[in-house]
Amino acid sequence: MNQQRPNIVFIMSDDHAAHAMSCYGSKINETPNIDRIANEGMRFDNCFCTNSICAPSRAAILTGKYNHECGVRTLDEPFDARQQSLPKIFQENGYQTAMIGKWHLGHGGISDPQGFDYWNVFVNQGFYHQPKMIEMGEEKVFQGYATDLVTDFSMDWLDNRDTDKPFLLFCHHKAPHRPWEPDEKHAHMYEDVHIPEPETFNDDYANRSEAAKAAKMRMSDLRPKDLKEDIPEGLTPEEENSWRYQRYIKDYLRCVASVDDNVGRLLDYLDEQGLTDSTIIVYTSDQGFFLGDHGWFDKRFMYEESLRMPFVIRYPQAIKAGSVSEDMILNVDFAPTFLTYAGIDVPADMQGVNFQTLLEGKTPDHWRDSMYYRYWMHCDHEHNVHSHYGIRTHTHKLIYYYGEAYGLAGSQDIPTAPEWELFDLENDPYEMKNVYGEPEYEETFQKLKAELEQLQRELGDEPVHSIAGA
Ligand code: CA
Repeated sequence: MNQQRPNIVFIMSDDHAAHAMSCYGSKINETPNIDRIANEGMRFDNCFCTNSICAPSRAAILTGKYNHECGVRTLDEPFDARQQSLPKIFQENGYQTAMIGKWHLGHGGISDPQGFDYWNVFVNQGFYHQPKMIEMGEEKVFQGYATDLVTDFSMDWLDNRDTDKPFLLFCHHKAPHRPWEPDEKHAHMYEDVHIPEPETFNDDYANRSEAAKAAKMRMSDLRPKDLKEDIPEGLTPEEENSWRYQRYIKDYLRCVASVDDNVGRLLDYLDEQGLTDSTIIVYTSDQGFFLGDHGWFDKRFMYEESLRMPFVIRYPQAIKAGSVSEDMILNVDFAPTFLTYAGIDVPADMQGVNFQTLLEGKTPDHWRDSMYYRYWMHCDHEHNVHSHYGIRTHTHKLIYYYGEAYGLAGSQDIPTAPEWELFDLENDPYEMKNVYGEPEYEETFQKLKAELEQLQRELGDEPVHSIAGA
């Protein structure tokens, strides 16, 4: 029986946007190894996160629940690892489980990883070089580059596993998260190359919300330690903006290149060990990222570049090579899907939906055609993004910036005036024009608003929360 249950290798990087992968049509880099997973398996073009920041997305993936249910709504709310989670259920059902790399859900006490036979995780965000890690509760400093080490430790663990049992391995990279420090091998990559700026690089946020204007995620908000070099003298503001973008994006892509190399190492390892056919391998990232899009870095907004997660998956026994799905899947869906592949019942309180049928190339009747999003961390100190929730369909997006902190950790109690944004994604894929309030969109607005409220009811989220943690 165990022989037939698939192994699962879940590789997740941090802040790797789909538009920095060649399998998603990147105009700025190549990722041949990640592309291999897509080419030999399936690529999802509409995989979305339910809250575009690290810890909340990670908690949603582990539990199969939205942030108001799993308890991590902001970066500052600790994860209670005593709750039901994917690794615990796998462990209880005879799988060997490991968590290696970025955990970022707090540590010590109730937030230490649970459900893993082996865990070795970065302290907080972790460092790129000589990272401090906590291995099964013990703090250690390791020599080397974080992305290489996470892969080394993953292969070491696989080498020493019990080959009679299937395994679930979480291989979680820190890269390409800020502060974007490349390794020596890639330090000079792109040195003489000009990376093209995205179409919306010079966005002036006209025809948009006050929230877009208020966000502190512009190139001018990059810190000296992000840039790592002094700004050349005598540049015009436009020239300085472009210079900052080149500095930022090149280091970001160098970090991605190392991730891609290491994905290749792990794929080769599976080949050499004869594990390729019996293993589901996924590459994803905890959310998307602005790569100069709208003039920004970072994420948080429900806008496309931040909302979209890359998601490629290979399982030669069941997934047709080179397939592509445009159906909507969400980070909360991963857990129920993996459970289904392992032949384990999905707990009734998991909110995500198993998408095995999509992986078989079929779209079930009544598959979701809209998704719910919520960003809770109102006016966080660094990026100043206003709290909002919204709905995305295949053609439109409606966002409501409710502008309240509701006392949540990591938010600031600086209420902002509520406002709506409505985008016609077919006519305006880059979301440059808010059409809320335009008479020809009134019917669409009313319909989406009703559907948004319906989703909130179904998922048990309330627009207004009285007390944090209540
Ligand atoms: Ca992240």
